[in-house]
Amino acid sequence: MISPIFGSDARMRVSTGKATQSDGRMFTVVVEGFGVGLQRRAERRITVPFPQLQRLMQTIAQQGGRIRAISAGEVPEGTATEAPSPEAPAATPTPARKAPVSHADVPVNLYKPKDPFIGTVLGNYSLLAEGAIGRVNHITFDLSEGNLHYVEGQSIGIIPDGEDANGKPHKLRLYSIASTRHGDNCEGGTVSLCVRQLQYEKDGTTINGVCSTFLCDIEPGAKVKITGPVGKEMLLPPDEDANVIMLATGTGIAPMRAYLRRMFEPAERAKNPEYQFRGKAWLIMGVPKTPNLLYEDDFQRYLAEYPENFRYTKAISREQQNPSGGRMYIQDRVTEHADEIFSLIEDPKTHVYMCGLRGMEPGIDEAMTAAAAAKNLNWSELRPQLKKADRWHVETY
Ligand code: NAP
Repeated sequence: MISPIFGSDARMRVSTGKATQSDGRMFTVVVEGFGVGLQRRAERRITVPFPQLQRLMQTIAQQGGRIRAISAGEVPEGTATEAPSPEAPAATPTPARKAPVSHADVPVNLYKPKDPFIGTVLGNYSLLAEGAIGRVNHITFDLSEGNLHYVEGQSIGIIPDGEDANGKPHKLRLYSIASTRHGDNCEGGTVSLCVRQLQYEKDGTTINGVCSTFLCDIEPGAKVKITGPVGKEMLLPPDEDANVIMLATGTGIAPMRAYLRRMFEPAERAKNPEYQFRGKAWLIMGVPKTPNLLYEDDFQRYLAEYPENFRYTKAISREQQNPSGGRMYIQDRVTEHADEIFSLIEDPKTHVYMCGLRGMEPGIDEAMTAAAAAKNLNWSELRPQLKKADRWHVETY
């Protein structure tokens, strides 16, 4: 038996609060008691294009904000800015990028390997704490000189300097983008990656991955060949009420970090009046040791600020044990919470994202199979339906 919610008419609800190109009129809403944290105490002025106005007013009403005034104001097409208030994050000079309306609007292959964008390294730092295994760095590139832009969940290609064993230029390697479309500074014009240095043993020698070592060693100011962006598999739904379950191993956290910033980072929320996330976001994250946890301080901050919206479950494989006494992997956490996860999946607003090691997939399927069977449902029939409904997103290697 198939649950009706998985049927073809059970697609996720898509927010219609998007700007169109046809109506460039701008409106400024003066609001009190709206936003996050200290923002709620300040009076804010939010300027949006006319097609976003209704959605903004709904959002304000739903969050208990009080509208003081609405005025028509001509602001150049494409801006969605907010006047600075003493307590709100400062508005930035660059226009906010509008959320793409559909997959067709998502930028792809703006720069190809034959004519890559040349980005400049702005920063490169380790994400790991003392005692961690290996090397994982957060690397940011300046994109301001060109037209390379992207949305959350996409990847870019990096072509490392140098030549391969045959004297040919290296091929590009794809990396999931770890920043939102506004970049880590929320001003646009940058992109960030989360990169683990690949290392393996061969014939008693340690081999370092070509591109990951190139990136982990790179210095600020260096020029790097960048291609892309690519990928439409891991796009975040524009629905602010969506539930988002994220399953990540190691650097597979990259797209999830971008989603979580978009959902909960105060400066991001200020930048996106049309995306004030209020659904449930549940991150299940697998790392080998506690010092290998990535972006932990940010996630703890989101937990403290959004306890109703953010849930964070860890599988620390070399410190925790699964019920059989083996290493605790994220599929063990999925098994532990299978009924709850399955119930969430039954809600058409729920999306599941998986990024990282392919090895997690069979265990996750097993857990879902059992949870579905308990409700007389067949997971092998349901999963393709979820995929078709664009609610099951997998990027594993
Ligand atoms: P890592 O720090 O080594 O952590 C991976 C965690 O997963 C460890 O706790 C590891 O446990 C655990 N693990 C190992 N085998 C597993 C399995 N079969 N099922 C579930 N968990 C397992 O991770 P990493 O080096 O960053 O690797 C992440 C992987 O994601 C890489 O293969 C990378 O290429 C890929 N990745 C993919 C994307 C993408 O798809 N777009 C983006 C970024 C990264 P133990 O080591 O303790 O066994």
